[in-house]
Amino acid sequence: MQRNPISATVDFDADGVQHGFLKLPHSHDASAWGSLMIPVTVARNGDGPTALFTGGNHGDEYEGPVALFDLAATVRAEDLSGRVIIVPAMNLPAFQAGKRTSPVDGGNMNRVFPGNPVGTVTEKIADYFQRTLLPLADYVVDIHSGGKTLDFVPFCAAHVLADKAQQQRCVEAMAAFNAPYSIMLLEVDATGMYDTAAEEMGKVFISTELGGGGTARASTVAIAKRGVRNLLRHAGILEGAPEIGETVNLDMPDGRCFISSEHAGLLEPCVDLGAEVSEGDLVCKIHDPARTGVAPVIYKSPIDGVLTARHFPGLIGMGDIVAVVAVRV
Ligand code: CA
Repeated sequence: MQRNPISATVDFDADGVQHGFLKLPHSHDASAWGSLMIPVTVARNGDGPTALFTGGNHGDEYEGPVALFDLAATVRAEDLSGRVIIVPAMNLPAFQAGKRTSPVDGGNMNRVFPGNPVGTVTEKIADYFQRTLLPLADYVVDIHSGGKTLDFVPFCAAHVLADKAQQQRCVEAMAAFNAPYSIMLLEVDATGMYDTAAEEMGKVFISTELGGGGTARASTVAIAKRGVRNLLRHAGILEGAPEIGETVNLDMPDGRCFISSEHAGLLEPCVDLGAEVSEGDLVCKIHDPARTGVAPVIYKSPIDGVLTARHFPGLIGMGDIVAVVAVRV
């Protein structure tokens, strides 16, 4: 396998706090011999576990970057036993553009793993995580939100894994993160995801969806900040026990949880996030925006559960996710 072109300006094995960059050569019209400079912080104090935190895997999701730039600015090596690696803007070009995907190559970071050292910019970043950063980590936390097109109840997620001991460690980390909702997340398509890459390496992996709509809220930022410190306490990297409050445990038993749109039009939400719905309850209507006098199409919940996600923009297209209904455990 070819060498990855990224070089780190920090030494991952050194004690203390270092702020630097993952430097990826990127030659383009505005910078012939330039580099993409992806911010990174590594904080280490002696031997102990390593936690790897990422935000900005999708560039229009903000709780991760806010909480992780904050963590990077405030972490003190003397408080740690082990190591913390912080990459607040994993897909830097997408983050700078406020877009889900990279404006450089169209790459969706969470669909290109394991990446490619001689591929696109996005694939090169993925390959660096796959072969350099993930192998350093014991705990991997990837902080997502819904971006411009989805909104979520704030949850931390683990996945159903073939290795039940590993799954249990992930569930314990999810419980320690202690978002208001904790969910066994069913993915639409797990191929190419960072999640899958980390889990296949046997890591303790958790992700989140902490809100959405292409912005952050005070309440969801607070959940992210508390969650990362809780995870560090759970891992034994920070002293003390996680601060644990109430969480609602949710499960997604099968594909019925996803309600997909088979119409394009004007979205009329009929229940809000967090609402309890029963099978057959009205979830939304989609109006024909081209003419008056047409009855809207009705979408109902296929199962009993909690409205966990919804389409965010006021207009909806064919094939968009209308809503996700997850089941209370
Ligand atoms: Ca996302």
